Amino acid sequence: MALSGIQIYKLLPQTNCKECGFPTCLAFAMKLAAKQVELASCPYVTEASKAQLAESAAPPIRLVTLKANGFEVKAGNEVVLYRHEKTFYNKPGVFAKVRDDRPVDEIKEEVTQAEAFVANYVGINLTMDGYAVESVSGKPAQFADAIEAVRAASKKPLILISQNPDVIAAGLRAVDGESPLVYGADSSNWEAMADLVKQHKAALAVIGESLEGLADLTEKIKGKGVEDLVIYPAGRGLSAGLTMNTQIRRLAIKKNFRSLGYPTLAFATTLAGAAQSITKYAGFIVLDRFAPELAYPVLVLRQNVYTDPQKPIQVQPGLYEINAPKAEDPVLVTTNFSITYFSVANEVEGSGLPAWLLVTDAEGMSVLTAWAAGKFDSERIAKAVKTFNVADKVSRRRLVLPGHVAVLSGELEGELPDWEIRVGPREAVDIPKFMKQVL
Ligand code: SF4
Repeated sequence: MALSGIQIYKLLPQTNCKECGFPTCLAFAMKLAAKQVELASCPYVTEASKAQLAESAAPPIRLVTLKANGFEVKAGNEVVLYRHEKTFYNKPGVFAKVRDDRPVDEIKEEVTQAEAFVANYVGINLTMDGYAVESVSGKPAQFADAIEAVRAASKKPLILISQNPDVIAAGLRAVDGESPLVYGADSSNWEAMADLVKQHKAALAVIGESLEGLADLTEKIKGKGVEDLVIYPAGRGLSAGLTMNTQIRRLAIKKNFRSLGYPTLAFATTLAGAAQSITKYAGFIVLDRFAPELAYPVLVLRQNVYTDPQKPIQVQPGLYEINAPKAEDPVLVTTNFSITYFSVANEVEGSGLPAWLLVTDAEGMSVLTAWAAGKFDSERIAKAVKTFNVADKVSRRRLVLPGHVAVLSGELEGELPDWEIRVGPREAVDIPKFMKQVL
């Protein structure tokens, strides 16, 4: 049973020291009751109180981690219904399905192709998270052979698909020491499946067609000592699936209904299905097959939905070389907001003109926003010039400021007296012309 804010408050130190970022212990307690902060933010909670608060501090959706050979795919730990309320923490794992009725060489080839797929999106490499091996043959040995064929091409986490405990037992033996997800347990096989996953430390997907049926089954399986569960709402079309997934999330987050407080699994045969699963609210998504044209939009959409709205996407501050610059080439300055970086870098690269691009740490903000927030000023730019030893790379010390912050040029001359400070255009699209005509 979840504790109220007042009950939580009674277990806190009540010193109002503010170290948690809240003005009072009561304010912190209210946030904790609403699952909007973590207990660890208060460093002074006693061990005895921590034990009592564990239930309240636990996220409403259990964190389930699939592991294999150093790779991990995590789902769960979410605390909000909508990303704008705070953030989503663990992006759904995207798995490609392979079937055990295919020749092992074809399985290897399929997985090898999927492993080679890397989509670079605003400087982030997007790849598949793992593979789901389905027993179509119904034969344990054939299933194990298919898993070994996948393992010959990839070390990433697996989902094992069969409702036959003998087949799953063979699959789990083939990946001994890993923590895969087993799909799945229904009302007819749950005891055997629960025994198997417990023995192999795997997670178990629970299959049910109604919320009541799912809740009943998760409780029974939990009673057998299996904690890492994943919910699969079965037999639904896109519309009904959307409703059911939303209800599961709502009950878990808003009502703290522990029986449904687990990540969900989705099987996507179409791009629409995969997109819906990302937005509402799958923890693991199995694509019917690997295809670059399917993987790319799915991974990009996931990246966008699962970025923290409070933290802009950033690139690493540093000195970047564009078109193999030499010592006499100019140094262009910008911020480390990804979109800003790529706008500038792409324009310069497209022009074919060589330049050094000095990316300063502006906490991921664009030029004007960072300047207005005091995160992109002459001091920070001068510091970046020194930190990245720019003077050692160039013979002609020319620094080009974005036109939007022309106002900084005077101060920057004071900070960097040996440098010629130039003011560039306001828009990235005008940089090539500026470089050709002015520099
Ligand atoms: S850090 Fe702990 S003791 Fe200090 S105000 Fe926050 S809740 Fe209270």
